Amino acid sequence: MRNIRHRIENISYVRIKLLPHECIAAADEKCPACKEACERQKSLYEHIKDQACKIETQTTITKYIEVVQQSTIRKLSQSFDAEVM
Ligand SMILES: [Zn+2]
Repeated sequence: MRNIRHRIENISYVRIKLLPHECIAAADEKCPACKEACERQKSLYEHIKDQACKIETQTTITKYIEVVQQSTIRKLSQSFDAEVM
């Protein structure tokens, strides 16, 4: 069981790392959540384009995406545990 869990985590990790940009939901069409995340990221980058804090803000956005990815993976693992117990 631990083995399966580990494999699921690895697969999830690889897939989630590609989101939201490489969402493969609904045959080439991004799913609404990924579409929205991409738009929001684009408009944030647009918003900071000519500002002095540009690099800093970009780093913050990238880190934020990583945090959300990690927490999604954690939640998936937890629901997997809940499912098998
Ligand atoms: Zn998606």
